[in-house]
Amino acid sequence: MARWAERLAGIFPWPGRSTVKRPTGPESSNPMHPIEEIRVRLDADMQKLETLIADGPGAGPSEGDKALPKQFEDLKVKYTGKKGEISGLLRSMGTLAPEARPEFGKLVNELRDYADARFSALQAKIQEVEIAGSLSGSSLDATLPGYRVPAGSLHPMTQVREEIISFFQGLGFEMALAPEVDNDWYNFEALNIPPDHPSRDMHDTFYVDDKVVLRTHTSNVQVHYMETHRDQPIRIIAPGFVYRVDNDATHSPMFQQVECLVVDKDISFANLKGTLFLWAKHMFGTETTMRFRPSYFPFTEPSAEMDVSCYFCKGSGTLDGAGGAPGQPCRTCKTTGWIEIGGCGSVDPNVFGKVGWDPEKFSGFAFGFGIDRITMLKYGIPDISHLTRNDNRFLKQF
Ligand SMILES: [Zn+2]
Repeated sequence: MARWAERLAGIFPWPGRSTVKRPTGPESSNPMHPIEEIRVRLDADMQKLETLIADGPGAGPSEGDKALPKQFEDLKVKYTGKKGEISGLLRSMGTLAPEARPEFGKLVNELRDYADARFSALQAKIQEVEIAGSLSGSSLDATLPGYRVPAGSLHPMTQVREEIISFFQGLGFEMALAPEVDNDWYNFEALNIPPDHPSRDMHDTFYVDDKVVLRTHTSNVQVHYMETHRDQPIRIIAPGFVYRVDNDATHSPMFQQVECLVVDKDISFANLKGTLFLWAKHMFGTETTMRFRPSYFPFTEPSAEMDVSCYFCKGSGTLDGAGGAPGQPCRTCKTTGWIEIGGCGSVDPNVFGKVGWDPEKFSGFAFGFGIDRITMLKYGIPDISHLTRNDNRFLKQF
């Protein structure tokens, strides 16, 4: 403090600002320098607030405690605000002799640092008081264990869908989407299903009007994508909801499919089988085998139904080796050892023609399966409605 006074003495006289007398000491007959005067008042104001804090929160937050933050802010603005007293000192520097200004500036900056440090320390104390006050003023017992927030989990179908998507993305497939309400052209005609085609009976379609349908399969993605990516190699995976007029234990009017399409030069049925084998082993275990049965779809030629060896009886048809009684039949595969999971085939040249691609140059394959069905198989769920009933007792198991 002595040094402070000495340095202040160096920039006296102050032109007629302060009339406050020093309270004590040998220089008490001199008026205080404005810098010192501000510091003395700041100390006194701080002291008042600190005394309030030291009283502490009583049984509950007192009126004094509640007013603390406001008083603190007012004080801070008064001294260190833009129009506060410390800034005021700097603004008045022009009235000093030029040679006194550098030292004066340094002293004001020191005062500002001093004030900032004290305000920071005080703010921390006030926050402590606030927290202590809010704890003691309520019935909260901070030592009690907290309420457990129930952690949700992804729906089993979402988990299976994500797993399928991530597997194919790993193989370089790109995700593609298309509208669920679509034109007849995308859902049927471009896929080689003209209006009077008998295969339309296979799709129990919801019609919005004569030309607009709720898509019956995700194959409409193929048409949209081929139209917008003409003559480029295609590797897409298209998950999404599809709709059919169908409702029983294994069918729901709204269900999820996932469909893949690969188009390039020299794509063969062997590529299709290789891709599907990889996927089946990933999804149902490395022992899984597959079989393809000749089938018919208007948009693929040749077409096949694909089956995987039963996940539960390991293809044996009985549950002997899978924890069942000797000879106990496997209900999941109806003792056949195989489970049908979807359809596939090479892209029909007519489809290429419809979307304006050259079937002589390009070939491809497509396959699709129901995510609901894969989920039921993977987890042994007997009734498809479990998947949409939103019963927590069921969903909590995943
Ligand atoms: Zn089985």
